[in-house]
Amino acid sequence: QRQDEYRILHEADLRDYLAGLPEVAARLGGVPASWSISEVGDGNLNLVFIVKGAAGGVAVKQALPYVRLVGESWPLPLSRSHYEYLALTHQARLAPGLVPAVLHHNEGLALVVMELLEPHIIMRKGLVAGALYPRFAGDITTFLARTLFFSSDLAVTAAHKKEGIAAFAGNHALCKITEDLIFTDPYRVAEQNRWTQPWLDATAAAFREDLDLHAAISRLKLKFMASPEALIHGDLHTGSIMVTESATMVIDPEFAFYGPMGFDIGAVIANLLMAYLASAGHERTAGERRLFEAWVLETVEDVWTEFASEFLELWRTEGHGDGYPRTLFPGEAGALRLEAERQAYMARLFRDTVGFSAAKIIRRILGLAHNIDFELIEDPKRRAISEARSLRLARAMMVDAESFPTIGAVTKAAREVR
Ligand code: ADP
Ligand code: MG
Ligand code: MG
Ligand code: MG
Repeated sequence: QRQDEYRILHEADLRDYLAGLPEVAARLGGVPASWSISEVGDGNLNLVFIVKGAAGGVAVKQALPYVRLVGESWPLPLSRSHYEYLALTHQARLAPGLVPAVLHHNEGLALVVMELLEPHIIMRKGLVAGALYPRFAGDITTFLARTLFFSSDLAVTAAHKKEGIAAFAGNHALCKITEDLIFTDPYRVAEQNRWTQPWLDATAAAFREDLDLHAAISRLKLKFMASPEALIHGDLHTGSIMVTESATMVIDPEFAFYGPMGFDIGAVIANLLMAYLASAGHERTAGERRLFEAWVLETVEDVWTEFASEFLELWRTEGHGDGYPRTLFPGEAGALRLEAERQAYMARLFRDTVGFSAAKIIRRILGLAHNIDFELIEDPKRRAISEARSLRLARAMMVDAESFPTIGAVTKAAREVR
């Protein structure tokens, strides 16, 4: 680890810098002058360089002192790179093989050098193209169950947990982005909001007046702010997941902090639901994406079901944290009662997941940051149809939780929404 004074690394700078890191230089191979460097950052916040040499490649991510999408008028702390580094190394320990390996970190430069993921692509792009990822549900549920469980009070001591919260507490500027852009702005007049006009004008206005919805989103916001259940990724949409047909890798945990587990699970489910509801807009011939659409909804179901069973199994076998002391549940009656508690916990977590999932959908349609699932539907009227269906589903999921007791109820509603 190094601590240089911050400067934005341009290509020549970066080449010299990497040449000075023996491990990275060896991985790239050949002389530094032969390395190819290209900036590929397509995210909203940071610079990402792909560097390739004769022997291999690396990805280099550098934080900018502002939000890339908006510019210097919106400053954002460089420390997010440090939190991304902390989260990546923590996730690598808990969910090996599901995040890129960190090769180098320089906190001063807000720089992380990591394993190059190749030939992986951003999952969202694959979903827009109608690709199926048969390994995805299995992999992402393992990532979710292990990272969430092992950072929770069910697995660790109270002291360890509180040290973890402290280690990430400084990442509040990134939390504030979520608090504003997901939990507040889509429901009020805000300069940065946008939606597909004029078709969604009436719905956007109705959402700004809907007190049932405002109460529901505020409950979720408070849960996001005041529930340090586990170390969450914090930005787990399908643009933060890179895939091949046989592998899944989670990237970009710069929003990580101790928050509610349902926020991460809900992010995955929301993004699958949006891929499903956008799919009709990408059709060139009627019915050509039917297989894809069936797979997406099946995957929504698998994500919750497999997550729940993996999480429960970890709790049963490795639940040695201070949260639910086994000594309070002795004998057969104790074991039964503890299992009932676990089931009740999962039911509560499912409700959170459905609510957060709805919040993640609404922000992508009425807020600042949109996604290519919808944006690449060229005909705005067709796009608006997919978006309006998504908003209707999301509103029901948020305000009418009793109608969604199971994940099957969610996929059924997605299938039927008009
Ligand atoms: P941001 O925080 O700005 O959203 P990301 O971490 O999401 O940045 O990275 C932006 C893009 O860079 C990703 O969409 C992906 O295309 C590419 N990328 C990031 N990390 C890697 C990696 N380890 N290997 C290959 N490509 C990567
Ligand atoms: Mg990103
Ligand atoms: Mg799994
Ligand atoms: Mg990011």
